[in-house]
Amino acid sequence: MNIVWVDGAGDELSQQAVAFARGLGGDVAAVRFAAGEAYSPAAWAQTLVELAAERGASAVLAPATDRGNELLAHVAAKLGQPVAANCTSLTPGSPARVVRLRWGGSLLEEAALDGSPLLATVAPHSVAAEPFGEPETLAVTPAASELDLAVRVSGRIEAAGAGVSLADAEVVVSGGRGVGSAEGFGVIEELAGLLGGAVGCSRAVTSAGWRPHSDQVGQTGTKVSPEIYIACGISGATQHMAGCKGAKRLLAINPDGEASIFASADYAVIGDLHEVVPAISAEIRKVRGT
Ligand SMILES: Cc1cc2nc3c(=O)[nH]c(=O)nc-3n(C[C@H](O)[C@H](O)[C@H](O)COP(=O)(O)OP(=O)(O)OC[C@H]3O[C@@H](n4cnc5c(N)ncnc54)[C@H](O)[C@@H]3O)c2cc1C
Repeated sequence: MNIVWVDGAGDELSQQAVAFARGLGGDVAAVRFAAGEAYSPAAWAQTLVELAAERGASAVLAPATDRGNELLAHVAAKLGQPVAANCTSLTPGSPARVVRLRWGGSLLEEAALDGSPLLATVAPHSVAAEPFGEPETLAVTPAASELDLAVRVSGRIEAAGAGVSLADAEVVVSGGRGVGSAEGFGVIEELAGLLGGAVGCSRAVTSAGWRPHSDQVGQTGTKVSPEIYIACGISGATQHMAGCKGAKRLLAINPDGEASIFASADYAVIGDLHEVVPAISAEIRKVRGT
């Protein structure tokens, strides 16, 4: 028996995780938590631990989403076992072997995985999605302690000004630490608006609190694939490039001619973004007569 935690009604990544589990052989139970159960990773994990013991599960899996990875990390901590995240394959045995995506998908790692049950999350698109029936619905068990319930979702705040979605935008104008401040993003927003694009940013920016995490491009942010990615004040760290390598064209604006972003750029402007970006916007306005 393999147990797969699935998200909500079973989105595509959940369907892929179930198909992955079927590939391991044996019965597969797709489980989710009742719609009313506020997300509480430690409490959900406790319930999964108990279910795995009750069913004698040989593997507990989840899609490698933020929530799936977090949930399985809690299960692993409770069992004192390793978890392999982002797996593209799992071969049971002693030890089991896994292949998993590392470095934002730029390399594949082969590793041994111990534990009973085996704990792993399934990398997106490593197998084709297969529809499955209605998942079993779990209620958080009374055994979940107060401590398990200490972290839970207590409310939701919709992202402000939802314009063009970053993941789908044809143009992304992205700012890095070189922008200098939250207010500095005014020129980035202006250019994105003129081009009908979305604003992105690097992790240095979200860490500084200048933009929300939903704007972050990269390995631990959104993966974008626009017609053009305009990187302003971004050095070009591999973790950032993992998010924008799908762009058809890249324009980099940076005063440091040695910045590594220029190695990936189709167009380069060696200069200060606070001069160059407003100049591009002004030129667009001039051409459009606005
Ligand atoms: C596990 C892990 C995951 C990570 N995930 C991500 C991720 O998803 N996304 C991400 O972005 N990073 C990620 N990072 C962080 C990453 O390694 C870099 O630290 C980060 O991308 C750097 O951001 P930056 O380019 O804005 O800043 P910096 O590297 O500090 O670069 C700032 C650049 O701005 C330029 N600059 C300065 N002034 C100006 C100006 N006036 N005009 C124009 N340019 C100027 C500078 O020359 C410099 O090149 C991750 C790191 C780790 C360890």
